[in-house]
Amino acid sequence: MKFDCIIIGSGLAAIWNARFLNEKGFSTLIITKNEVWDCNSFYAQGGVTIANDKKDVPLHIKDTLVAGSFYNRKEAVEILSKSSLTLIKELDEYGFNFSPGPTREGAHSIPRVYHKGGDATGREIHKFLLKKDKSYLLDESVVFDILIENKTAYGVSILHKNQKHNIYANNVVIASGGIGALYKYDTNARTIAGEMQGLAVEKGIKLKDMEMTQFHPTVFIEMNFSQKLLLTEALRGEGAYVIDENKKRFLFEYDQRGELASRDIVSRAIFMHQQKGHKVYLDVSMFDEEYFKKRFPTIFNKLRDYDINVPYEPIPISPAFHYIMGGIEVDLNSKIPGFNNLYAIGEVANTGVHGANRLASNSTLECFVFGKRAAEDIIKNNFKTQKNKEFDIINEELFKKDDKKYKNLLREYMWQNVGIIRNKKGLTKTLEFIQNTKNKLGRMARLRFLTAEEIVKSALKRKESLGAHYIIN
Ligand SMILES: Cc1cc2nc3c(=O)[nH]c(=O)nc-3n(C[C@H](O)[C@H](O)[C@H](O)COP(=O)(O)OP(=O)(O)OC[C@H]3O[C@@H](n4cnc5c(N)ncnc54)[C@H](O)[C@@H]3O)c2cc1C
Repeated sequence: MKFDCIIIGSGLAAIWNARFLNEKGFSTLIITKNEVWDCNSFYAQGGVTIANDKKDVPLHIKDTLVAGSFYNRKEAVEILSKSSLTLIKELDEYGFNFSPGPTREGAHSIPRVYHKGGDATGREIHKFLLKKDKSYLLDESVVFDILIENKTAYGVSILHKNQKHNIYANNVVIASGGIGALYKYDTNARTIAGEMQGLAVEKGIKLKDMEMTQFHPTVFIEMNFSQKLLLTEALRGEGAYVIDENKKRFLFEYDQRGELASRDIVSRAIFMHQQKGHKVYLDVSMFDEEYFKKRFPTIFNKLRDYDINVPYEPIPISPAFHYIMGGIEVDLNSKIPGFNNLYAIGEVANTGVHGANRLASNSTLECFVFGKRAAEDIIKNNFKTQKNKEFDIINEELFKKDDKKYKNLLREYMWQNVGIIRNKKGLTKTLEFIQNTKNKLGRMARLRFLTAEEIVKSALKRKESLGAHYIIN
């Protein structure tokens, strides 16, 4: 069977992209690693940034550029912000309504973040869009190769129920998300391991800004699962304080905006304070219990499960890896330059909107805006691959016995040396580890290592600190 479009991933970018293709009669196949909901989009808490009106567009652009250290691609930011103006109406006509009234998040000058279900925005939108989705769906399937010849993508190779198959299409869209599993502490869904970025390296597809990795400042890490609990920016936006064991609001020593400084600044301040031997907490005691429970139900229930009596008791926090601004370089339609029919959308892509540091809640917006633009480009080009062309499936072992051990070691190296504060010695040591290990691994782990290698190499190349990339000596 051949499809008009294969989409790798089942997050917001994928489903929104599929919606527009399906509406024009293009057949789409969504392929996803685990269950269809198991993605970062499902866990998005704060919401979706939407400029309030035309007058707010320049301010939203400015906030995005300031957070991104002016390293953003300005044209892409303009598209992002202007396109947001129609999103509420577009979602409304499709049947989805946000809760009334936007909220304010860190580094936004004014309230413009829309949410639903309290802190369950991602879950609510994702569930809604999935129900309406008309794509074919292949879950429990891991993509391990993209079939490429002469700058044309012909389809993908997948592992499904322990069998390898090739599936063919006229277009391929990579919507496989970020890289969470490369770090010891991360907020990401367990499916997010950066394999497609590694595949891009293997295929000679350019990655850009891979050193730009964002650490969320307020994460509850004292839990057994590898995915740690994010404490949304909206908490600080609505008045929560960061304090130490002496109840001191120390953030003002690092930046005059205190809790409302951008993520990289708050993360670094917390990390540095911890390095001085302090313990750090999020104080949410200013919230009324009933309000807290209703506004932040996921956080309330999970923390109570861990015996933290919120909102009365301060929550122990640490920064953790959260988001990658870098990714597969794409044009303003999210198409990969030089390819006839290959696209990357959502977190896996580098459209340039986030620059050196993402403004809170701009990434769900990016999924919507560029997911749609990619669909429109696919429809316009209506590219057809050569009929009946078939590929051999690569003969490489996908998994090896020691992969897990090496993947865990990588997570440790990345956290210690390629984290919030970097230096040349640590980066070089990590690069050596990656290069000495990558050829011992099964293919899937090797792809992860290729992604990590690219992050470290990019970090070594950027000798001055910029945005989320902070390097000393
Ligand atoms: C806890 C948390 C809270 C967040 N809160 C917000 C927020 O409030 N606002 C905001 O704007 N952003 C937020 N973000 C970031 C945002 O959610 C993500 O950047 C965005 O949802 C990414 O969407 P996506 O469609 O690109 O990828 P994802 O939603 O991550 O989906 C990626 C998909 O690719 C699949 N996949 C990966 N590799 C393979 C493979 N090899 N084979 C097959 N399938 C594969 C995965 O299974 C998954 O289905 C948050 C992120 C997290 C983790």
